[in-house]
Amino acid sequence: MSRKMAPPPHLHAYLERLLPYPPGKPIEEVQREFGVRDVIKLASNENPLGPSPRAMKAMARAAAEMHLYPDGAGYYLKQRLAGRLGIAPQELILGNGSDEITLFLAIAYLGPGLALMTSNYAFVRYRMAAELVNAPVTLVPMRDMTHDLKAMAQAIDTNTALICLDVPCNPTGTIVEARILTGFLRKVPKHIPVLLDQAYFEFAQGDPDYADGLALRAAFPNLIVTRTFSKAYGLAGLRIGYAVARPEIVNHLERVRPPFNANRMGQIAALAALDDAAHLRRTLSVNARGIKMLTRGFDRLGLRWWPSWANFILVDTGRDARALYVELLKHGVVTRPMGGYGLSTHLRISIGTPGENSRCLDALKAALK
Ligand SMILES: *Cc1c(COP(=O)(O)O)cnc(C)c1O
Repeated sequence: MSRKMAPPPHLHAYLERLLPYPPGKPIEEVQREFGVRDVIKLASNENPLGPSPRAMKAMARAAAEMHLYPDGAGYYLKQRLAGRLGIAPQELILGNGSDEITLFLAIAYLGPGLALMTSNYAFVRYRMAAELVNAPVTLVPMRDMTHDLKAMAQAIDTNTALICLDVPCNPTGTIVEARILTGFLRKVPKHIPVLLDQAYFEFAQGDPDYADGLALRAAFPNLIVTRTFSKAYGLAGLRIGYAVARPEIVNHLERVRPPFNANRMGQIAALAALDDAAHLRRTLSVNARGIKMLTRGFDRLGLRWWPSWANFILVDTGRDARALYVELLKHGVVTRPMGGYGLSTHLRISIGTPGENSRCLDALKAALK
């Protein structure tokens, strides 16, 4: 005899409110749907040069050991990173992408009555992580597409349990000046953890106004700095990111980390990529040139854009960006409409190779006609 079981009504009713993250369109899908052969993807801030050749060699060699579980402690990668960053391995935790570390932070520090504070246009994954654990979210409006740290400091209250800041910010591409960031951190009570997400660190690093999160840690023990191998290192498909924080915080996050979250191939590739200074240099130079080329092109097309310290640019197209996005797809150019952020006239365009940037500008010109 079988009895139908009613779902427990009290359990995770808020799950119904959650929306899955909208992924960028895969290249193959655009090819099929629009009948274009040569598709370029400028939608997910990936490295247009591909992975480091050194990482590819290391991966080929490592293929035969993929029956083995990853090193759950990430011993070698953490040793190497710690040496490189001038920190102790106990101050490091690896993530399945730095995105997963946001989830660890939410599980560890947020919940009902324990609120996230971030900006209205900050990386949407912070908000999603908070919603996942049924935590309240305070979204502070940005000022001129930049985190308004003055308003955020004023909005801190007794419920504030985690503050998330991406610098550079995705999707706006902007940074907050080091001086302003430091002033803000001084105002945040030390019991509130602050995530400084530096996913685009390598691209912004050369600017004297850009704060190196690691240098701030001595003064601010509540600071958690995340970085990733997905962007400048070109290893997005392998999902390796990391956080640097005080051992006490790392210890909290280790309690919620699944044992094999950082996969074996990813650890091996990341180690090799760290040694490939030439690939990183090429990446940064292609990106800097691409920003110049695209912004000049946007100017010619009369499009408004925001200065970017990352590997993408936010463009206000002044019209329905979703429709423009579809037009661009017909030309085989995949960009990212920002309607999900409430920026319905904006596209986020990742920087490509010179050839890809030029195709993107041609497609924009044709689509805007
Ligand atoms: C891309 C991105 C990340 C996460 O990248 P992972 O691939 O998960 O390491 C984190 N924060 C911001 C702002 C990003 O744009």
